[in-house]
Amino acid sequence: MTEVQNASISTAVYSYKQNLKRSRDDDEVAVDEPPSKARQTHVKHETHWALDGNLLLQLGNVRFKVHRSRLCSQSKLIQAIIETSNGCPNKEYDTAEKLVENKEMVDGIDCFFFEDGPSAQQFAALLDCMDSAIEFVYKPLPGIETIKLILEAASYFTFERYEDFAIQYIKDLFHLKVEDVQENISPHAVDGIKLADDYPKLVCVLAPAFYELARQPYQENSPNGPAIGKGLSELNLHKLLHLQRKLSQAWDEIVPLLEVGGAKGPDCCAKRHVLSLQTFLDVKTQHPFDPILGIRQLKSIDWVAKKYCNPAIVSVKDNLRKKSRQIWADIPVWIQEVEDKPESNSNDSTNDVSSDDSESTTGDEKS
Ligand SMILES: [Zn+2]
Repeated sequence: MTEVQNASISTAVYSYKQNLKRSRDDDEVAVDEPPSKARQTHVKHETHWALDGNLLLQLGNVRFKVHRSRLCSQSKLIQAIIETSNGCPNKEYDTAEKLVENKEMVDGIDCFFFEDGPSAQQFAALLDCMDSAIEFVYKPLPGIETIKLILEAASYFTFERYEDFAIQYIKDLFHLKVEDVQENISPHAVDGIKLADDYPKLVCVLAPAFYELARQPYQENSPNGPAIGKGLSELNLHKLLHLQRKLSQAWDEIVPLLEVGGAKGPDCCAKRHVLSLQTFLDVKTQHPFDPILGIRQLKSIDWVAKKYCNPAIVSVKDNLRKKSRQIWADIPVWIQEVEDKPESNSNDSTNDVSSDDSESTTGDEKS
């Protein structure tokens, strides 16, 4: 091909793109507008291409041939698109109108184009899930990466049952109640934080996911693997460090709860019962950023051996139980505190994070 030919092709492509752009800018989609490149060069999805399908959906450059009634029964958006296409606009879904304006007829079948929605991979994961839903009864559920794909597609297309399934799956990865917290740290904490940011229905996993990360000691360049919180935004890292500092500080409020009797009540043998500093520090050292598991360990101490009488033991355990619940309730508040500070929102510099938090982290380690 000569340079002149090359140049003229580029000019043609450029001018076509400009025309297309102008037409979009003017918000008028001409009926006789030539099909876009994505529409000309598409690939059929290798799995989701039903020979007797009666609806075409194209995401990116991948085209799916599906059964309209099957998708309509699950997806409110697709139902709205079909209704709008049939002349009954659905007010609830204003995107439907635009998608219908863009449709093309291909071999007698309506083809709809989704350029700003989920990817073909995400949509395929959702269709896979529809096809294999019954298998989940006796086969293992898909992994978190697949669930994330399903969630994105299901939430865009409002496949409510599949969205609920993905939401529940993700919720089940976290301990949503303080009683359920386990020694093992969830490997999905970063995913949980990001998903909670993206999907309002998952906001309940935000605090538990942050707690999972915060309770492990933070090391910038740990030789044992990637730094904790890798993949989080600057703001979320800031929240993580703030939460970690708060969890560490909570230990200071546990100390007075361990002292009962004497002037501090309750009515017991009238002696003053105090836990030895060494015993306290032994527990704290094992859980420096996890007062919740620390409290659980304190509750299991042999208090009789520590010279606590029965009413004193009841009182101490009650104090600890209340404290544990209070810390759990405070976690979302502590996370929110960072958002409330304007400088953390606007200032994304690394200096800000390190200067603000490294100081106190060092302090915590010393205490
Ligand atoms: Zn006593």
